Amino acid sequence: MAGRNFLFVPGPTNVPDRILRSMMVPMEDHRAPGFPELPRELFQGLKKLFKTEAGETFIFPASGTGAWEAALSNTLSPGDIVLAPRFGQFSHLWIDMMQRLGLNVQVLEVEWGEGAPIAQIEQALRDDTARRIKGVMIVHNETATGVTSDIGAVRRALDAAGHPAMLYVDAVSSLGSIDFRFDEWRVDLAISGSQKGLMLPAGLGIVCASPRAVEAGASAQLRRVFFDFADMRRANATGYFPYTPSLPLLYGLRESLRMLFDEGLEAVFARHQRLAAGTRAAVAGWKLSLCAKKAHWRSNTVSAVVVPPGFDAARVIEIAYHRYNLSLGAGLSKVAGKVFRIGHLGDLNELMLLGAIAGAEMAMVDVGIPITLGSGVAAAQGVWRITPELQKASSPAPLAVCAA
Ligand code: PLP
Repeated sequence: MAGRNFLFVPGPTNVPDRILRSMMVPMEDHRAPGFPELPRELFQGLKKLFKTEAGETFIFPASGTGAWEAALSNTLSPGDIVLAPRFGQFSHLWIDMMQRLGLNVQVLEVEWGEGAPIAQIEQALRDDTARRIKGVMIVHNETATGVTSDIGAVRRALDAAGHPAMLYVDAVSSLGSIDFRFDEWRVDLAISGSQKGLMLPAGLGIVCASPRAVEAGASAQLRRVFFDFADMRRANATGYFPYTPSLPLLYGLRESLRMLFDEGLEAVFARHQRLAAGTRAAVAGWKLSLCAKKAHWRSNTVSAVVVPPGFDAARVIEIAYHRYNLSLGAGLSKVAGKVFRIGHLGDLNELMLLGAIAGAEMAMVDVGIPITLGSGVAAAQGVWRITPELQKASSPAPLAVCAA
């Protein structure tokens, strides 16, 4: 099919040309005397991205799943009790990993479409009078349902309960797109990957660990070899890695961080907020709803659109792909066939997203979903044609559209 595929899954995201070019490098000696300059810039940049002074960052040749395992295996022991709400496919998969590693997971079942249940978390921590819960595990942005949880509120729940458990946060589909405040929220372990907000191919598993999390390694008994922080720290301290790193990905990461900082982190977050607001307006224009049950949970990186009963969201995705060269995200597990997802993160602007909204609209009409062609596009345009300056100066009307 002529033209580029419109990639609107919530990861992997579009790799900007600037990053693509930066990865076209000849191989070099990763033990060369000049090599440490590169990792040092990456560790510094990642710290800035996580918003941490004291946290230590780790870059594994892995994906988000590997980073999950690194965070768990370096800090916990078999049989340790951890508290984890399950509200989507990724919190489910992480819990599954915890169980398979031999952790004792106290699961808080939450309806898909809701976020981390703050009051229940606080109660569970208060009830744990013996202070046996070692970690609270939260997926910041549940990519399956398009739900963002309030990590600051989770921290406040831990504090209110006076509980010393460590805070583990999956930031795979939020880092670099939605504000993440490692130090302010006193996160102990944050986990991410390269193929979402960082606009890179998959292949890097990224972890940020607090000093307390690093110290926990001394007593953590879960088995680990490839993901051992201790080996990484030893090598990283001199600017090297304990095994062969993926050089193109490291150069790509350097470029990605430079791009994010050139745009300015707060501007990047504002752009994602704006793109999400337009997408949500489009969904409202179609008179459809989002999987996210309440406005404050609606994600700025992915919208999971619920198709009306009697229609199969998988058909929408299939038609969008085959007829319009548009890749939309599938509904996963419990919401398979019920939702399709529009990823709106990474290297994106309004006109690119209008293409995806137009394509989704055509595919829905093709499968017989009763929406009006142009309704979503027009609604998104209505949000985006208002400049941020005008939004600030104007009455609540345009802001109400943003909140839709
Ligand atoms: N956590 C979240 C929130 C995700 O969205 C994903 C993947 O989409 C993962 C974890 C797993 O990451 P990966 O596929 O890079 O292993």
